[in-house]
Amino acid sequence: MITLDFDSYNTRLDRAVIKNGGEIVILSNKARVIFFNKNKKDRIIIMSGVHGDERGGPIAILKFLENSKITIDEEVVVVPLLNDEGWDKNKREYGKIDLNRNFNKNGPKFILELRKIISERPIDQFIDLHEDIDEDGFVYKLKSDKSHLADNIAKVVECKIEYEDDHFAWGNTTEKFIRSLGCKHAVTTEAPGKISAEEKVEWNYKIVDYFLST
Ligand SMILES: [Zn+2]
Repeated sequence: MITLDFDSYNTRLDRAVIKNGGEIVILSNKARVIFFNKNKKDRIIIMSGVHGDERGGPIAILKFLENSKITIDEEVVVVPLLNDEGWDKNKREYGKIDLNRNFNKNGPKFILELRKIISERPIDQFIDLHEDIDEDGFVYKLKSDKSHLADNIAKVVECKIEYEDDHFAWGNTTEKFIRSLGCKHAVTTEAPGKISAEEKVEWNYKIVDYFLST
């Protein structure tokens, strides 16, 4: 399962999405943007696989869509596996580009396409699933963030909260872009690095389930 290549991943994903009545948009790098409950008032976006060597998030989303059901009454936009090349080479970057530092207008074409889709309507909640090789797992929270989203996720996966004065100083992250659109409930999670591949999937699965099941 963990060695699933990008195309095989998408074959399985598409099947699961169609079964659940979702709508598939394909970016120029073949990454999928999936819509469920399109045009419901509230809108939630889940992203994963921005870094190609972080396997847990994409696999967790695939497992969720294959085995479970979205029961929330909101528009759900899922970008389950963004970095095609990084995934197949099992490396963080896309070419030489870190997509979570270049999620801006200078990014590759598919990033521009995705930014456009994301910008079409206001976003109520955003989550980007990552992994950290050295740490025990944590959720980033900006000190200026007054929402409880990071706290709630930390409870779900029993991890710590990493408070940041300004993680936007890293550069153009997905979360920075989403917040620039006015979304106040945005969070970046980092699954633990030193657990097994299956445990990383489980960690992310809990978060996906928390967002998509009532
Ligand atoms: Zn990452």
